[in-house]
Amino acid sequence: MNICEIIRKKRDLEELTKEEIDYFIKEYCAGNIPDYQASSLLMAIYLNGMSQREISDLTLAMANSGAKLDLSSIPGIKVDKHSTGGIGDKVTLVVMPLVASLGVPIVKMSGRGLGFTQGTIDKLESIPGFRTNIEVSEFIQNVKDIGISLMCQQESIAIADKKLYALRDVTSTIESIPLIASSVMSKKIAAGADKILLEVTCGSGAFMDNEDRAKVLAETMVNIGKQVGRQTIAVITNMNQPLGRYCGNSLEVMEAINILKGNGEPDVLEVCSILGAYMLKLAGIGDNLGNNLKLIQRQIENGEGLAKFKELIIAQGGDPSVLDSPELLNMAKYKTEVNSLENGIIYEIEAKNIGKAIVNLGGGRLKKEDFIDNTVGIEVLKKVGDKVKIGETILNIYSNDKQKAESQIEYLRNSYKIGSIDVPKFNEIIDIIE
Ligand code: URA
Repeated sequence: MNICEIIRKKRDLEELTKEEIDYFIKEYCAGNIPDYQASSLLMAIYLNGMSQREISDLTLAMANSGAKLDLSSIPGIKVDKHSTGGIGDKVTLVVMPLVASLGVPIVKMSGRGLGFTQGTIDKLESIPGFRTNIEVSEFIQNVKDIGISLMCQQESIAIADKKLYALRDVTSTIESIPLIASSVMSKKIAAGADKILLEVTCGSGAFMDNEDRAKVLAETMVNIGKQVGRQTIAVITNMNQPLGRYCGNSLEVMEAINILKGNGEPDVLEVCSILGAYMLKLAGIGDNLGNNLKLIQRQIENGEGLAKFKELIIAQGGDPSVLDSPELLNMAKYKTEVNSLENGIIYEIEAKNIGKAIVNLGGGRLKKEDFIDNTVGIEVLKKVGDKVKIGETILNIYSNDKQKAESQIEYLRNSYKIGSIDVPKFNEIIDIIE
């Protein structure tokens, strides 16, 4: 088999066979196909797509590219959760301890930031001392001991995804249904949970910018789950503006702590509650969504979700005093305001630009090996439907370099569309695919 011929076929809109897909994944992982040829194939897939059969074959080849976790020694129904990424999406940090506090074993392998989005692992690592790179044995033991563990994607698991994820991040090949579906589902399959809940983000701050594409992505992943016998539910959420108040790794951890303390903004609280309720449904706690929502609310009010987060932080070496004193999280040095130059109502936000500004401030990767600054970020003071006046602050930029922050002001200001038109109600949940 020949990689040039495989690239040519995809370039010319031909379907790849299972053998060709297996060959690509095997040889790329073995280092026999260089990044430049893999990038070329990724771009051909990005431009020309794949059939459902090709996507399933790619997913399974990627899932089989490394070890698979065996979670059978952990009693109970293990439910995994994954977000396709968005701006200010700290839902995992909130939902996992809440659901774990109700006795559902949470075993979650998470990713780092991708493109203009931040990842759960980078967020957790902004807690001083928190170890995400733990051995599988420790990961499983934590779940047995305290009912929850989160770790970064292991070298040995879904190796193909780890390599391709990093390559896509720097070759503009992220926003592709076959590539996202295979990336997400390969690692979920390899990570071994019994059931999977997907948060499929949709809008200007997500990789799927319209509802039709988000729905196809959600259905594609739910179908793959069905094929491999892992019940999967996808909740399509609205990412046409940042979720919650803060975007950026340390800032999002601080906000997640506040949500667990009962001080969440309504939008992020709604998304966390719905996702939590569906996780409980998958875990067999109850089919009645209303009751499940009440359970989630109760775990916030009685502090048990926060207590579970504390147990997780302690078990993985982090400093739990950040829960009482969030200022112990490393924070950026400077705050720079972005003011409105207009009077009116905000009718649109180009949410992606907020993520891109964070990358420009040093909070994301432009090259695979880049070090990121977890402290930088943006506070969102005004959202869609809000009235603003000239001179009013719409955003705060948190940075360690004043000039860099100032260079983002105009870009961020232009991401807000302000006018006098009526703005329809902003719905957080777009659809549920079961
Ligand atoms: N999340 C993933 O795990 N993979 C993608 O490709 C996009 C979001």
